[in-house]
Amino acid sequence: MSAAIIDGKAFAARLRARIGEEVAAFRAAEGVTPGLAVVLVGEDPASQVYVRNKGKACAAAGIEGFEHRLDADTSEEALLALVARLNSDPAVHGILVQLPLPPQIDPGRVLEAIAPEKDVDGFHISNVGRLNTGQPGLVPCTPLGCLMLLRDRLGDLSGAEAVVVGRSNIVGKPMAQLLLRDNATVTIAHSRSRDLAAICRRAEILVAAVGRPGMITGDWLRPGATVMDVGINRVTEPETGTTRLEGDVEFESAAAVAGAITPVPGGVGPMTIACLLANTLSAACRAQGRAVPAGLTA
Ligand code: NAP
Repeated sequence: MSAAIIDGKAFAARLRARIGEEVAAFRAAEGVTPGLAVVLVGEDPASQVYVRNKGKACAAAGIEGFEHRLDADTSEEALLALVARLNSDPAVHGILVQLPLPPQIDPGRVLEAIAPEKDVDGFHISNVGRLNTGQPGLVPCTPLGCLMLLRDRLGDLSGAEAVVVGRSNIVGKPMAQLLLRDNATVTIAHSRSRDLAAICRRAEILVAAVGRPGMITGDWLRPGATVMDVGINRVTEPETGTTRLEGDVEFESAAAVAGAITPVPGGVGPMTIACLLANTLSAACRAQGRAVPAGLTA
């Protein structure tokens, strides 16, 4: 193995500690505590874990967490009414509705009902438009975390050949926009792309956000490339029946060719919650007319 390991867990821990300091300074200056409302509808076990972890992370950073747990048969109207209440609550600076939602609720309608200035997931069409037109706004947490790791590793991204594999609205597309904003030359690849291996081999920066374990192998990489593996895939070992997490990149073969690579777990994953806290503090700063502290946003 020759690649440097990009330790997202350690970076996220430092970022969370810094956010804690910035939150304390904000509270002292404004007499206001940044608040994040997290809404969970139903009993999805994975979502329950995510919501619990978000609550703990908020508390550790000095951010007030407001948890709203609703029954699985909650109507869309009832959820929209809660979102409207949170939109007008001055103690709430960020609103996150945990996905997926039960089938009777249209997630698009709910996400568009969140006030854009409180949309800490960065999924509202207004924040998508702001990102795409280079205006300040709230940026989706996982791509923001990737960008922070890339800037930390590479410094200036200007002119770099970047390939993003995956074009989802939550990872691939915003990631590509962020890289473009930092003046990289960006290619977005997807399931209809021809000769994906050749496209990947061009990349000085490769971001894999596909959801297919080990799809990208070392022979697809340009030597020395910086590889960000966003994939989180639960894989069951046939012999033992045990499950483990695997990225979209085959780690061993990729690490022999890449210059630097994020592991799974412990790479991009821990950055998502850290960036959720950063977005909540950003939203609180803007609500109070304060500048967002440097390095916490794109
Ligand atoms: P998604 O919505 O399913 O999108 C997957 C993308 O990959 C699509 O654009 C799809 O192309 C593309 N794709 C699928 N098969 C492909 C193939 N054979 N060749 C090339 N492209 C292919 O997934 P997502 O939400 O973006 O998530 C991607 C991965 O990141 C998942 O493993 C997810 O668990 C992980 N993730 C991690 C975090 C985190 O670290 N916190 C957060 C979010 C997601 P088409 O558009 O053509 O279908």
